[in-house]
Amino acid sequence: MSLTEITARIAAAERAAGRQAGSVTLIAVSKVQPIERVEAVLEAGHRVFGENYVQEAAGKWPDLRDRFGPVALHMIGPLQTNKAKVAVDLFDAIHTLDRPSLAEKLARLAEARGSCPELFVQVNTGEEPQKAGVLPHDADGFIRDCRALGLPLSGLMCIPPEGEDSRPHFAKLADLAKRNGLTGLSMGMSGDFEAAIAAGATHVRVGSAIFGARDYG
Ligand SMILES: *Cc1c(COP(=O)(O)O)cnc(C)c1O
Repeated sequence: MSLTEITARIAAAERAAGRQAGSVTLIAVSKVQPIERVEAVLEAGHRVFGENYVQEAAGKWPDLRDRFGPVALHMIGPLQTNKAKVAVDLFDAIHTLDRPSLAEKLARLAEARGSCPELFVQVNTGEEPQKAGVLPHDADGFIRDCRALGLPLSGLMCIPPEGEDSRPHFAKLADLAKRNGLTGLSMGMSGDFEAAIAAGATHVRVGSAIFGARDYG
């Protein structure tokens, strides 16, 4: 598969859902991919990327930005509080705001620098014990607390449980966003981004369908 094909499938899914062309942002998830594959997608003109690890992103993106110009970078992996400063300097958006200590740290950093990345609250819609994210019944309170800290929230993010139908999770996330007055919905990956777009996704995070399988070896 390729960037062109994924872009075409996103456009078709927007049309099928009666949504405006261009209303969905494609985040090309480049974690762990060989640099040549990332360069190829940059050469094809794409400028929105997602990374999971602060260290890895900090090691490759300053150079890529020097060579290719402005690139919007989205942090989509779990964020340790002690890496928040590096993350805020590097990323344009953070999709994994999921606990009070991180919210407080981000609020302090944002105040000091006078700007803040776009923020998404991660919700553990499947209530999986091992997974990050606030539980659905804690989401309203956490969103309220983030706003009280002055954090500008853009939306919500979820990663549905593996091997389950994603659609009920997308619907749950859309509901939670709507009742909290949030318009951003970061949901949908290689296997389910069209269903996510049908459910209102504004940001889809697609890795392997663009770059090929990841080799963690
Ligand atoms: C790796 C990752 C993706 C991309 O997954 P693919 O199945 O390769 O598209 C999307 N979202 C998050 C949070 C990820 O960690």
